[in-house]
Amino acid sequence: MVTYTGRENLVKELPGKVDFVFISSFTEAALLSYALSSLFRSRGALTAIGGPHARCYPQDAQKYFDYVLGFTDKGLILEVLGDCAQHRPVGLHLSADHHPVRLPGVSERWKFIEQTLRKAPFIKIVPLLSSLGCPYTCDFCIDSSVPYQLLDTDEMKQDLRFLLGKLKHPRVAWHDPNFGVRFDNCMDAIEEAVPPGRMDFIAESTLSLLSESRVKRLKRNGFKALLPGIESWFEMGKKSKTGHDTGMDKVRTVSDQVNMILRHIPYVQTNHIFGLDSDAGPTPFELTKRFLDLTPGSFPAYSMLSAFGQAAPLNLTFQRANRVLPIPFHFLSNIQMNIKPRNYSWPEFYGHLIEVTKYSYSPRLIMRRFLANGERIPRWLNVVRGLSSERFGRVAYFAEMRKRLERDVSLRRFLEQETMEIPQYFIERIRRDLGHFWEWLPEKAIRHNPNAYLVSQKVHNPPDSILCARIA
Ligand code: SF4
Repeated sequence: MVTYTGRENLVKELPGKVDFVFISSFTEAALLSYALSSLFRSRGALTAIGGPHARCYPQDAQKYFDYVLGFTDKGLILEVLGDCAQHRPVGLHLSADHHPVRLPGVSERWKFIEQTLRKAPFIKIVPLLSSLGCPYTCDFCIDSSVPYQLLDTDEMKQDLRFLLGKLKHPRVAWHDPNFGVRFDNCMDAIEEAVPPGRMDFIAESTLSLLSESRVKRLKRNGFKALLPGIESWFEMGKKSKTGHDTGMDKVRTVSDQVNMILRHIPYVQTNHIFGLDSDAGPTPFELTKRFLDLTPGSFPAYSMLSAFGQAAPLNLTFQRANRVLPIPFHFLSNIQMNIKPRNYSWPEFYGHLIEVTKYSYSPRLIMRRFLANGERIPRWLNVVRGLSSERFGRVAYFAEMRKRLERDVSLRRFLEQETMEIPQYFIERIRRDLGHFWEWLPEKAIRHNPNAYLVSQKVHNPPDSILCARIA
């Protein structure tokens, strides 16, 4: 198993001769995965893809892999290995009914975890899961339609005890979509397995789960960083427990709660989404700035609204309205929106993004954050993140896009949906980033059907009139 973090020389790391290659990939790395599949197929291997990209864009992935796997469990893997055949030109799309009910424990995975930890330059963090899915229904989220399931807490305790025997002071990041939904079960397990002060934890959780008594218990159990999602100042009040409060009222309520969390937990990253249909004008960006003024210790992380294929039911609405752009997968990270904003022109939208990003990671706010965080690692993490990609990488990208919109006609026409032709600017960036693997990228892979989800729904659920015609 090779974990690709973006820094390895894959030409050296990958084996020359294999029979079967499984790749798990986010959409951002899909083109690299496609290139690898084509390289290994040329050497006679079979290939399979799983993970987020396979779940979001199965129809596209089927063109480049023998197997495309949705929810994947041991039974499904055994089925694939039992079949073990070429499926070309269209790969076989398989999925279990749901996520696995149990996952291999840390002791079983240790040789893989250890090899990945060695690659972390400074802070080594072990990824764990205590649950899968989410009971909330944020309509843009891939987990909104996946039923919540707590994993076995006895196995969780075994994992934590194993880590205590392997590392001096383990640091664990819970990668649950929403940690602590079954709060007492998780805390009881941690308290039973981990002596006080022996382990640090990081978790992503919703504000509605984080009352002060719970935050105090998290602190006692070694939680050093929490990442609550705020998303919008106008929507999702249930998730942040702000009810019908919107605008500045929601800013004050959320700020009070985040300041309370910061009194107990040294590092809090708040997650925000821009470009939602409820956003219009400068207000959402201005409200975010006011939130930062009122909450100097929090580190903001911004995402753009994006429709990742069939990740979420809401994507059908965008596809029906013909608002999803075929922006190559390579750019579908949280920095590039692939939905035409409802209430902004592109230059206006990029202008607001540049301004709020510069403000959020300005020397003044970085200093305020530094002074507001009491502990050494969170303090410096805030400074390093504020000065690195969050500020310079993003501002440079947004500024480049805004500038290009003025003079690059092909880019402007593409973003305005006047043409489907991929702008040369995108192609050159993909070529540069893929390096050696560009030559293995199948020719048509930079293009995809942004409405494939909608088309697949029409095939599986034809309108009543068509059904009647067939029956007749
Ligand atoms: S609370 Fe978080 S994980 Fe759950 S549906 Fe909403 S965004 Fe997704």
